[in-house]
Amino acid sequence: MTWIVVIVAFFALLTALSYFSAPVWLWAVASVIALVVINAHWILLLIVLAICAVGGIPALRKKIISSFALEKVKKVIPPLSSTEQAAIDAGTVWWDAEIYSGQPDWHKFSSFPAPKLTEEEQVFLDGPVEELCALVNDWRVVHKDRDIPQKAWEFIKEKGFHSLIIKKEYGGKGFSNLAHAKIVGKLATRCGNTAITVMIPNSVGPGELLQHYGTQEQCDYYLPRLAKGIEIPCFALTSPYAGSDAGAIPDFGVVERGNYTDPRTGEKHTDVLGIRITFEKRWITLAPVATVVGLAFKLKDPDGLLGDKADIGITCALLPKGTKGLVQGRRHYPNNSPFMNGPISGKDVFIPVDWIIGGVEYAGQGWRMLMECLSIGRCISLPALSAAKGALCSYTTAAYSGIRHQFGLPLGKFEGVDEALSRIGGYTYQMQASQDLALVALDNGEKPSVISAILKYHSTERSRKCVNDAMDIHGGRAVVTGPRNYLASAYNSIPISITVEGANILTRSMMIFGQGAFRCHRYTLEEIYAMGENDLDRFDAAFSGHIKQILRNKARSFVLGITNGAFTNVPADVGKMAKYYQRINRLSAAFAFSGETAMASLGGSLKFREKLSARLGDAFSNLFIASAVLKRFTQDGSPDSDFPLATWAVEDSLFNAENALVEFIDNLPSRPFAWSLKAIIFPIGRRCKKPSDSLGTEVSRTMMAFGDTMDRLSQYMYIPTCDPKIVEEPIAALKPALDAINATRELEKMLRKAERSGELTGFGPSERLDEAVEKKIITAEEREQLIAARELMRIVITVDDFDINLSDYNTDPFDSKLFLAR
Ligand SMILES: Cc1cc2nc3c(=O)[nH]c(=O)nc-3n(C[C@H](O)[C@H](O)[C@H](O)COP(=O)(O)OP(=O)(O)OC[C@H]3O[C@@H](n4cnc5c(N)ncnc54)[C@H](O)[C@@H]3O)c2cc1C
Repeated sequence: MTWIVVIVAFFALLTALSYFSAPVWLWAVASVIALVVINAHWILLLIVLAICAVGGIPALRKKIISSFALEKVKKVIPPLSSTEQAAIDAGTVWWDAEIYSGQPDWHKFSSFPAPKLTEEEQVFLDGPVEELCALVNDWRVVHKDRDIPQKAWEFIKEKGFHSLIIKKEYGGKGFSNLAHAKIVGKLATRCGNTAITVMIPNSVGPGELLQHYGTQEQCDYYLPRLAKGIEIPCFALTSPYAGSDAGAIPDFGVVERGNYTDPRTGEKHTDVLGIRITFEKRWITLAPVATVVGLAFKLKDPDGLLGDKADIGITCALLPKGTKGLVQGRRHYPNNSPFMNGPISGKDVFIPVDWIIGGVEYAGQGWRMLMECLSIGRCISLPALSAAKGALCSYTTAAYSGIRHQFGLPLGKFEGVDEALSRIGGYTYQMQASQDLALVALDNGEKPSVISAILKYHSTERSRKCVNDAMDIHGGRAVVTGPRNYLASAYNSIPISITVEGANILTRSMMIFGQGAFRCHRYTLEEIYAMGENDLDRFDAAFSGHIKQILRNKARSFVLGITNGAFTNVPADVGKMAKYYQRINRLSAAFAFSGETAMASLGGSLKFREKLSARLGDAFSNLFIASAVLKRFTQDGSPDSDFPLATWAVEDSLFNAENALVEFIDNLPSRPFAWSLKAIIFPIGRRCKKPSDSLGTEVSRTMMAFGDTMDRLSQYMYIPTCDPKIVEEPIAALKPALDAINATRELEKMLRKAERSGELTGFGPSERLDEAVEKKIITAEEREQLIAARELMRIVITVDDFDINLSDYNTDPFDSKLFLAR
């Protein structure tokens, strides 16, 4: 018994010292006191003191521990390839690094400002963005015109939609990233193809690259023209042979002297230092209509005309339309989404070196440039489109769930439907919150590459789930294509979002944890650099910090695993949400320690264990999302009405994070590592539950109530307010129909009761309404109210029918003889 107490006390002491990252001298003092108290043998005392001396005296530590570790690490960890190095160097870290540390700094978190549009940005959103939304109709764009209308193209150019991020000095709008995202998002709730047309020049288009790296001459020429919409840009990286593995593009350019004619001026130039490029690109958005093509290729300089490097590497150049040999104009048709997208190619196309973005100085820097710009764009475009899909699904499905009745009840009253509806709301809240948090980072000048990967994957996956749930709840109403279908386009475009800007499987399995392990970890990158340079001092400093962090996270995982994070730090004034911050504290330590275990047990082979890497990435990402949800709730003023939604969203993320760690442990090949990890991070088992059924019902009821919670969810959605009978404006009918049905719900109940009791005997609904007035069950005024509500319901549930050739749809809003049926 005494020995059990001693052992427990000993472990408690070690845990406490690790938990508080005690300095080595304190370890020595505490251990000596403990050993003296238990009357341990003096040899044991000496051993402990020797260990502390080796750990605490830098010269000894370097000689005995760090030099040994350095040699071991060299054998296990392969050196970084230049592409990996460029990707790692490209971005910055932010709140992601705090989560990765195992001990997030909530003080720092509280200091992040709330996202806020400037007055000018708000005016643009309420003015030109609304106007552009009104100019386009998704049905017509997708099925009739197969392009956005000419009027909309002109409006986009005239109002500067392509210049959102171009600095004012070049005639651009100079908007924040927040404004950029909200503009694209709002357009996407109306017509995804218009949103993409606006989005590309502002994200992956050369505008961003030029502003960062362009020569003065390039900026002066192109930026004002891009801002005015005189130039339409595209950026071509993907080749038929290199999609995800974009660093492997076979497209090449050789430095040589040659002649060319500048298509912009018609001037001929002879004996110019330039590049002869051969390339084949596909799936390039805006390529068919682009007037300037950003092109990535591998540059070679066999004759040393630029310097002493024969293989210069990936380089980006700008080719004006009309450049001799540049072939463009054909179109792809990506899953029924007719935004401009197509192939582009060229053989032996000669361009001057001045067309390299940034000039000769930036030859070979293309990969880093693309990585840097991609991490910004990836936080904006697809997360905005995804959050927009979430808002669209939330608004339309919540309304439809209240309007459509089956078995005598609105769909939303059935638990199965309520479950799916609550998922839509919860995921939408998560998507909006995580993008808002990331936008704060961007607007603070960060280039958060890991956060951008988290957002890309998790937003697009959540939007896919939202659209699927929305389709299910709408049933056949969303299956039948036509102008009345407001979901089909969102559904069709999902695979595009999943695939572009880093396909999702790759992003989840390779990038999130893979990049995080280097970028967000405080010490690994430093250790690898030290290893590359064989610098023992540098390695020792990083390695000793790393060991301390491991010990701390191990102790924190264990203690917080027992307490579920209780008593740990949280930001001030977070009220009922405090316990969720504490769970993030717990899971952050557990995740960080799991990451260390993965690296220790798998070493360099972890890179190829994508299923494990993906699960660690899921845990990491869901902790980011959980913190974003809490941030949004606070920033919105912690409204009581949002409490169920925010709670659902945070509980879901925490459950996913914990679940990912459980699955990681279950699949870790080294069982001893797995068992000890499980004992440390789950000392008394799992602690997070999925959002409960009753919470889900509260969420769906809140959504169907269309109060201030729905106002916030759909804040950046375009909601037409025209006559609900206009067939091509199906969303306009939803809210009036829901209000009318809610207002007549009691009357309908009375009528049904009268029918059941035999008081109303008329065969048709019309006859029964007349009879009800005659028998004074309802008044004549109420009869009109009921007719109006039923008419609106009929508009909402009506789907399109076409002539036999599918060329013309039925433009009658509803069949006036049938609408009364309910
Ligand atoms: C509509 C559309 C618009 C586009 N616009 C542009 C544009 O403007 N400019 C441009 O340059 N490109 C553009 N692209 C290309 C886009 O970026 C690529 O499609 C994307 O990079 C994926 O390449 P891929 O489709 O060839 O898939 P592949 O690379 O063949 O991958 C196929 C599948 O394998 C997975 N995978 C691949 N490698 C790994 C790995 N190591 N680990 C795990 N999974 C892996 C992927 O996740 C994917 O699921 C566009 C594509 C489309 C469809």
